[in-house]
Amino acid sequence: MHDQDIFDVTIIGGGPAGMYAAFYAGMREMKVKLIEGKHQLGGFLHTYSDKTIWDVGGLPPMKCAKLIDWLVQQAGTFEPGFVFNQTVDTFSRLNNGVIVLQTETGELHYTRSVIIAIGRGVAEVQKLDINTAHDYERSNLHYTVQNLERFAGKKVLISGGGNSAVDWALELAERASSVTVVHRQDSFRAMEYNVSQMKSKVDVRVPCHIEGLYGNGERIHQVGIVNSSTGETTRLEVDEVIVSHGYTSHVSNLAGCGLELHEGMIGMNQLAETNVPGIFTAGDCATREGKVRLIAGAFNDAVVAVNSAKMYLEPSAAGMAYVSSHNELFREKNRALEHEQT
Ligand SMILES: Cc1cc2nc3c(=O)[nH]c(=O)nc-3n(C[C@H](O)[C@H](O)[C@H](O)COP(=O)(O)OP(=O)(O)OC[C@H]3O[C@@H](n4cnc5c(N)ncnc54)[C@H](O)[C@@H]3O)c2cc1C
Repeated sequence: MHDQDIFDVTIIGGGPAGMYAAFYAGMREMKVKLIEGKHQLGGFLHTYSDKTIWDVGGLPPMKCAKLIDWLVQQAGTFEPGFVFNQTVDTFSRLNNGVIVLQTETGELHYTRSVIIAIGRGVAEVQKLDINTAHDYERSNLHYTVQNLERFAGKKVLISGGGNSAVDWALELAERASSVTVVHRQDSFRAMEYNVSQMKSKVDVRVPCHIEGLYGNGERIHQVGIVNSSTGETTRLEVDEVIVSHGYTSHVSNLAGCGLELHEGMIGMNQLAETNVPGIFTAGDCATREGKVRLIAGAFNDAVVAVNSAKMYLEPSAAGMAYVSSHNELFREKNRALEHEQT
């Protein structure tokens, strides 16, 4: 290990908390690395990227996909090191105090402090448990809806009973030529008002589940559904199939490395410190009294965690970064922006 391989702070997780921490740690002139288990930044926001977000301070309502773009751009402002497709599994400490992060695939990362921002873990979509399903993922079997217009005038079948399935059914009710929702339970796990709206607008079949996909190997033409209380099977003509069966979350062993947990979340104090010196936490994986489990809360935790990491490394450092409006770090960047605007 060479000195240049050691980072001041390593952020684990590239959701809103991790991305904002990467930006803010740059403002504190720290040498920053961010390790993300998936191939991209954005975290849980990708699961509702088609939704409009209203409650991030100062931003106009926008599609979540747009917010991801802006957060990614901001996270890169001070050019931190980004590492993708590595899930950090454990940490340990060398005699000289350097913390070693080990990933599931055996890579080692050296750092003087850590911010754990792993949210709900590495989320994977729950796929349809039917052999041929994979063949249709590139054509008309969808696990998420990126572009509602794609479904305009089409016969759409939605499988699922949560908020997302119900929301998509409502969104598509006006655009698609027909929408059928199948759900294996009699009741839905979604907002009551939305469920009753959905029932008045689309064809709802319960307790039913998909038993087969029938197509030519390139596109699904029919979906077989079975009613589990009567055993009756039906085939429905479809153009597009949306499966919304939720997510499985793969939570790493990190929490088990001596960190104090509260109801499965990492305990932190008002300074975002965990019980392990040098290890800080932010975002949805963290908990304390009054913790706000929103994007705005993730940003706030990130600032506190970075400031605490900075002071852990340099006890005489200021308690927070100099405000951006008067911060010399932005002088050149502001000039470049002004130049672009003229
Ligand atoms: C359906 C839904 C709708 C929501 N709508 C809103 C809304 O409108 N407004 C709002 O403010 N909030 C909303 N939220 C809440 C918001 O999404 C969360 O508060 C926010 O995503 C938390 O960010 P985070 O960075 O803590 O975690 P996450 O977004 O979960 O990101 C964590 C990241 O860490 C990565 N990771 C996990 N474990 C590891 C590991 N061991 N090694 C490396 N990487 C790892 C994951 O892959 C992921 O990228 C919503 C939540 C849900 C479920």
